[in-house]
Amino acid sequence: MGKKPFVTKEQIEEIVKQYPTPFHIYDEKGMRENAKALKEAFAWNPGFKEYFAVKATPNPYLINILREYGCGCDCSSYTELMLSEAMGVKGEDIMFSSNETPAEEYEYANRIGAIINLDDITHINFLEKIVGKLPETISCRYNPGGVFKISTDIMDNPGDAKYGMTTEQIFEAFRILKEKGVKKFGIHSFLASNTVTNEYYPTLAKQLFELAVELKKKTGVEIAFINLSGGIGIPYRPEQEKNDIYVIGEGVRKAFEEVLVPEGMGDVSIYTELGRYMMAPYGHLVTRAIHEKHTHKEYIGCDACAVNLMRPAMYGAYHHITVLGKEEDECNKVYDVVGSLCENNDKFAIDRKLPQIDKGDYLVIHDTGAHGYAMGYNYNGKLKSAELLLKEDGSVELIRRAETPKDYFATFDNLDIYGKFKF
Ligand SMILES: *Cc1c(COP(=O)(O)O)cnc(C)c1O
Repeated sequence: MGKKPFVTKEQIEEIVKQYPTPFHIYDEKGMRENAKALKEAFAWNPGFKEYFAVKATPNPYLINILREYGCGCDCSSYTELMLSEAMGVKGEDIMFSSNETPAEEYEYANRIGAIINLDDITHINFLEKIVGKLPETISCRYNPGGVFKISTDIMDNPGDAKYGMTTEQIFEAFRILKEKGVKKFGIHSFLASNTVTNEYYPTLAKQLFELAVELKKKTGVEIAFINLSGGIGIPYRPEQEKNDIYVIGEGVRKAFEEVLVPEGMGDVSIYTELGRYMMAPYGHLVTRAIHEKHTHKEYIGCDACAVNLMRPAMYGAYHHITVLGKEEDECNKVYDVVGSLCENNDKFAIDRKLPQIDKGDYLVIHDTGAHGYAMGYNYNGKLKSAELLLKEDGSVELIRRAETPKDYFATFDNLDIYGKFKF
């Protein structure tokens, strides 16, 4: 409960001498402890593997840290495959969970031996045309439709989601794939996002384990792995209680013992594709208050904007804010904390109770370690910030430089107009 930044005002005052705000900073110590706990929580399953969802935080320095804990890469696009390959992640250490996949992406994934996770039954023929002979191992993505409930609570709405095959289709897909010579099968499903409950994975696992038993019985295929995908959430709000990964791992183990083991399927591997859970709490967006405005509301204008963190503008997502050096002050002001885009949704916080903010104060926007920098864009000609790593020994390393105007104009580089710009 509560939310404390992993940096102090004094640390940030030092860091900004070299790297001006805004920037994302990541906490190596927190990342490591969390990755280690995940590994321990699923150690009961010898084949367990976390494929880190690269889209959440596509930075090789950070992914390399996760790899020390056995993580592979979950990719969804050509450049994510390139990033993984460049890092030396190979073969079945890459899961390719894409949808509406272009032909060249399947070709590439197959060439580097990634496990291909088919989003749709029509992709069997599509893939076969591209690669000739289908790979030995294939995964299929499942979507049972309807709503996903834990007891009576509706968690999400898979019936409305574009992903995955229906129950009928996945049985048909497995039959067709088996006929075409595929030897090992996986099942993948992502039915609810950012779940802050220890029940999500165990509930999903039980459903997928039961499906696996039926698929094996009816189609005679060998189920090698079940991929529970992403969806374990984090407490963005200070009053929320954090998931307990050990309780989650134990819940999945119970379902495994109950459903798979009696069917002689105790050798099935459990895979995950967590993004948010692995990284979100271990990133801060650090920004400086540069203006205060008193009109119909009280505004604090900062030097970061929605291009650095899109979630509040896009989803109305809550991100906690700490004013550095004022951690213990009373929250007796109400502010909209805003960026500089010509867009009124460029607000990191609306009607947020905070301590008095003065120009020059540093604000920490919490939980930006996943789907933060990664969702950045260049609207209004705004440039993407740097990414920094706060190492375990307290030193700071630049792990991605900030964009410069030259990066912004780089896509004109083979056009006549380019030579007319001066950077
Ligand atoms: C986005 C995504 C993930 C990661 O989701 P989180 O909510 O960040 O855990 C995993 N797998 C697939 C296929 C995804 O699209």
